[in-house]
Amino acid sequence: MRVTSVDIMKFPSEKPSFANPIPVICRVNTDEGIYGYGEAGTTFFTASGAVADLIKDMGKMIIGKNPLYHEVIWKDLFDNCYWTKSNGPVIIAALSALDTALWDIKGKAYGKPVYELLGGKFHDKLRCYASQLQFGFQECRGLKYTYDDYYEVTAYAKSLGYDAVKTDPMVCGKNRGEISLTKDETFGFFRHDVLGIIDERIRATRDALGPDGDIIIEMHAQTNLQTAAQVAKIVEQYDIMYLEESIEPLVPDAMQALSTMTGIPLTGGERTALRAGFLPYLQQRSYAMIQPDMGICGGMTEMKKICDMAYTYDVGVQAHVCGSPISVAAGVQLEAAIPNFTIHETHGTSLAPDILAMGVYQDFLPENGYITVPDRPGIGQELSDEALSKAVTETVR
Ligand code: MG
Repeated sequence: MRVTSVDIMKFPSEKPSFANPIPVICRVNTDEGIYGYGEAGTTFFTASGAVADLIKDMGKMIIGKNPLYHEVIWKDLFDNCYWTKSNGPVIIAALSALDTALWDIKGKAYGKPVYELLGGKFHDKLRCYASQLQFGFQECRGLKYTYDDYYEVTAYAKSLGYDAVKTDPMVCGKNRGEISLTKDETFGFFRHDVLGIIDERIRATRDALGPDGDIIIEMHAQTNLQTAAQVAKIVEQYDIMYLEESIEPLVPDAMQALSTMTGIPLTGGERTALRAGFLPYLQQRSYAMIQPDMGICGGMTEMKKICDMAYTYDVGVQAHVCGSPISVAAGVQLEAAIPNFTIHETHGTSLAPDILAMGVYQDFLPENGYITVPDRPGIGQELSDEALSKAVTETVR
């Protein structure tokens, strides 16, 4: 089997934002009619155009190659694209999309789901959490500001069957329409009134979810060591499962310092690429769970190695997914095949009707808070005719 062409598909948005992502997907085609899909993880705002161009450049380099040699192709691209060795997430995102597409081809070629190629299923079902509730969730739309807002959206998620949720209590301002609580104070100290708002929003979340549910607090790397420690102290009373991205991820030492200041487990990794990027967090015992994005960290090939490396440090995994149904499906395959899977992220963005409509198969929508891992060959998802008709596609051959 040989690669004959690579289609690079962009799905532009007039107003790119967290709620209006710009997925970049590649389809690698072969001389046997089998093709595979992979997605870059650079869904938000700025990097989609750059990563699409990078996939074009790299796509030319795999024409004529045997797609079943994904390890060999990965190493060839890594060794010969120069900037790949800078650990930059944008160029690694392009490599990631192509690599994941090769796994989809491999699964289809052998008639097996990717989880079986990875060694088999540890989990038939994946426990999911309802993610990013502060932006609204499914039918409970709109940004959240007040105690009642946070209570309502959490109660709504619970009514759908979720017993775990994630919310960012700082990304929406004090009052409706105001920007983030953290904008002016990221590198200072939070005032007591700000801490009071954070406390109120998490209390509302706990009140609505009840004592048995799990809460992840998202901080979007907007806080520094000092302000993150202030938040950690405030939320300790609510028995929080994890604090996510509590510090900008470029300084592992700061995360290590925070881990010694709070008893709440810390997580991160959605902007981190390659094993080398995760290694310091593991060696320093900063993260209790890593959240690599398959479309950022190096694709299926590299992410499996990152997850196995984390397992040797007793660290769990949640695949970060916030893109199209292609990235969700690929994440599910890997999560099923690792012993240290912890929980699956069901991102509100992935549930937006126009994003959901991009996929042919709709069984990635959790039922009672769980996804049943599909057994279809490859990653188990295809782009719908509607998505293909909307895609702005360029082909290299
Ligand atoms: Mg996050």
